[in-house]
Amino acid sequence: MKRICCLLLCILMVFAFTGCSQKGEEASASPVSQKRFATIGTGGVTGVYYPAGGAISKIVNKKNDQYNIKVTVESTGGSVFNVNAILAGDLEFGMVQSDRQFQALNGVAEWEPVGKQEKLRAVFAMHAEPVNLIAADDAGINTIADLKGKKVNVGQPGSGNRGNALDTIAAAGMNWETDVVAEGLKPAESAKMLQDDRIDAYFYTVGHPNGSFMEASAGTRKVHFVPIEGPGIDKMIVDHPYYAKAYIPISQYPNVTNTADVPTYGVKATLCTSADVPDDVVYAVAKEVFENLDEFKELHPAFATLTKENMLEGLSAPIHPGALKYYKEAGLK
Ligand code: GLU
Repeated sequence: MKRICCLLLCILMVFAFTGCSQKGEEASASPVSQKRFATIGTGGVTGVYYPAGGAISKIVNKKNDQYNIKVTVESTGGSVFNVNAILAGDLEFGMVQSDRQFQALNGVAEWEPVGKQEKLRAVFAMHAEPVNLIAADDAGINTIADLKGKKVNVGQPGSGNRGNALDTIAAAGMNWETDVVAEGLKPAESAKMLQDDRIDAYFYTVGHPNGSFMEASAGTRKVHFVPIEGPGIDKMIVDHPYYAKAYIPISQYPNVTNTADVPTYGVKATLCTSADVPDDVVYAVAKEVFENLDEFKELHPAFATLTKENMLEGLSAPIHPGALKYYKEAGLK
């Protein structure tokens, strides 16, 4: 009996070993034979980061046979959350505002206590993100100075836009903690809160068109974008290398009450990763998006003005070596 048991055990072990070794052989036969998963951290579902992540994953996953990489998308709190999750190894990629990329790399703003985030790497830049302030017409907010005493969503901690909201309020000579009634809502909640008369206005640094402003302007409470301009804003743009003048294209939102495009300032959306993410994974993402740019641009109207050249502008972190390999092959670097 004991011998039979031993024999059975041996047979089982042989099977188990063979099974494992076959899997192992498959995995080590070539670098692309082992399936890899890469997650892109985005933003709220009514923003542009979420569909942008979806567009990247769609383009790369089409070549699953070639790369054996499965890209997935996660809705997150936004840029600051994404940088920290990338560097903690919880996400492979993240959408990050260009100002946040600069700040993390240089250890300023939210990263002041932890210092320079030297492992942060850039992949490419994407659409423009104006700093938008949308307000209810009945709230009497026509300039940034009118925000005084008003209930304003400046964005949740972890979002990229919160920093821009606080910078804007400071540039207007106000203190965000005492001069406005600041809320820290998720962007996906803001539109409904504005329509429900529970806030007077909200800031959102985001590309156009987006679901949030469509929703905010589709209700019975009339809304408009507020110009973000003046000497304080001009000085802030000069003082910060990552800010530039921008405008809000109101033709994208037929229901807002503005009659002309609205001046503001803005940043760019970028795709970031960590130095620890394997070169071939980042290579695949950069190559597939660049080589299929026409198809990629069809996936969201905010991508209309993207070119291979402007997608390499506005990056402050070093370009990841996997992406750089592709840019060199393509003669772009
Ligand atoms: N720029 C925003 C942020 O970093 C997100 C915008 C979006 O989701 O499109 O928090």
